[in-house]
Amino acid sequence: MRNIYLDNNATTQPAPEVIEAMMPFLRDFWGNPSSMHYFGGQVKKHIEKARQQVAALINADPSEIIFTSCGTESDNTAIRGSVEALARNTVIITSRVEHPAVLGPCRYMKEQGHNEIEIGVDTTGRLNIHEFRNALTLGPSVASIMWANNETGVIFPIQELAEMVKEAGGIFHTDAVQVVGKIPIDVKKVPVDMLSLSGHKLHAPKGIGALYIRKGTKLNTFMIGGHQENNRRGGTENVPYIVALGRACELASGKTSDEMTRISGLRDRLEEGILKTCPDTTVNGDRKERIPNTTNISFQYIEGESILYHLSDFGIAASSGSACTSGSLEPSHVIRAMGVPFTAAHGSTRFSLSRYTADEDIDYVLEKMPGIVTKLRALSPFVR
Ligand code: PLP
Repeated sequence: MRNIYLDNNATTQPAPEVIEAMMPFLRDFWGNPSSMHYFGGQVKKHIEKARQQVAALINADPSEIIFTSCGTESDNTAIRGSVEALARNTVIITSRVEHPAVLGPCRYMKEQGHNEIEIGVDTTGRLNIHEFRNALTLGPSVASIMWANNETGVIFPIQELAEMVKEAGGIFHTDAVQVVGKIPIDVKKVPVDMLSLSGHKLHAPKGIGALYIRKGTKLNTFMIGGHQENNRRGGTENVPYIVALGRACELASGKTSDEMTRISGLRDRLEEGILKTCPDTTVNGDRKERIPNTTNISFQYIEGESILYHLSDFGIAASSGSACTSGSLEPSHVIRAMGVPFTAAHGSTRFSLSRYTADEDIDYVLEKMPGIVTKLRALSPFVR
């Protein structure tokens, strides 16, 4: 049986080039980068090289990058660190469709006595800009809005939002975990103060992330400990994984445009093929303002979990809801925030592609999908 992986927003396959780059740092160069001797010095320069590679991908200065353990830590550092650095009456502004790595710390800060506002989205997943603008008038603000949504792929107008926050004198953070390596990012042009990214979403291993912090941004330290990362994040550096992230960013830098044109072509073929051959299917989220690798399709009157189960029988891996929320039969908070009707919300299925997705993979999924849908509809308890 073939194995086809279409769950790249959950995690990506580490690139062979990335594995090759990190191996010497597990086997041969294992010194502590903070040590003054030869063993430390040998590895320290590779951390700085990786910092340059990460910075280059988003056009930042290397001194503005800190390494973290994952996207979740980057988000927590940005939100908790900046809220703590500001006044007591800070207003935290976020959206209802954020990943739990952002919603969690925002709600935690609310429990600590801060005002928190979650902005809604419309039926296509687009942020209510009017609500966002109003929230900015309520006091000194820290706003955290994702660059693109992990479930639908919908891209938010980050340039516009960041400019609004700057004008209001607030701090703007974006969770760019699902966009780095997929669309070009230039922090010299887009005035975000902080940006989170995660290695395992761009073909580096799990357990490594980075946070861009624009020079001059007020931020308390989140991981308090040693003097690593220029006193901004304690903890002995995870050298092999840092090297891996640097190499993954370097690979993505050279490839973004051509590779993504090919991937979006495959995604569109998959999407159009499903819409054409499977009746009562709709795409969730705006189809224009979207990252190139993602489609989220609702199959009316069927449970998403059953679709995944049947796809899995054919060796096809996809996802229903966010990877972190699957296992629960409730439609995800993202789909619910968009107001997708009940019969469609339950059948929402995400297909997310990568540079390793081949033409034949899409042919195979399109061949199997109509049979799965017909079979499940025949068993469906929902009234048609
Ligand atoms: N933010 C978004 C949008 C994500 O999709 C994810 C992971 O799914 C995260 C944050 C968390 O990243 P990590 O798994 O590296 O902690």
